Amino acid sequence: MLRVVVLGAAAGGGVPQWNCGCPVCRKARTAHPELQSTQASIAISADDEHWFLINASPDLRQQLIATPQLHPAAGKLRHSPITGVVLTNGEIDAITGLLSMREGSPFTIYAHAKVLATLTSNSVFNVLSEKNVKRQGIGIDRAFEPALPDGTPSGATPSKPKKPAPAQPGAPVQSAPSALRNFFGLGSPPPRQLQPQPPRAPNVPRPPGNVGRSASAPQGDVIR
Ligand SMILES: [Zn+2]
Repeated sequence: MLRVVVLGAAAGGGVPQWNCGCPVCRKARTAHPELQSTQASIAISADDEHWFLINASPDLRQQLIATPQLHPAAGKLRHSPITGVVLTNGEIDAITGLLSMREGSPFTIYAHAKVLATLTSNSVFNVLSEKNVKRQGIGIDRAFEPALPDGTPSGATPSKPKKPAPAQPGAPVQSAPSALRNFFGLGSPPPRQLQPQPPRAPNVPRPPGNVGRSASAPQGDVIR
């Protein structure tokens, strides 16, 4: 059975965001600490022993302290149950937690080649020596199963990976996260048609409402 721990459920910046004075962040700092939430991330395991993180948020250190399943095993001086980290994108909110995992424990980073290139091109991530921290490419729309340290399948997938059908000219375009949906056995979302997109404006400030959203699941809840 796949176990999922919600490590955090807030948007980038968390709640409260350090520089936000909106009503929700103000309440989270004062009378309603229950509104506080770390940034979105989950941990999954098929055996309660080896865990895989889905993204490593800047709040990872705090999330690991708050999650007993992710503590070092009793009696071991250096150990972590975290066997791998699956990165769904290369944004700050998804990758900077990796820097909190730099103390020499082995694990594998699974990410698209473009995300791995982001790590390689930012020398600060060299603290994750490739001798200890393997980097494995994953493909968009290709299901995969993360491996245990000995290379055997982790079982962290409730369904057999399905081969995607070859794309037909003019066919609807699958959404990018469908590989992750297959990973979780969710099947494919309804197809969407590819629409021409306007160019993205760089450095558009995040609207205040985006950071004041309260968590939809309490931090640290285990879903079985
Ligand atoms: Zn706020």
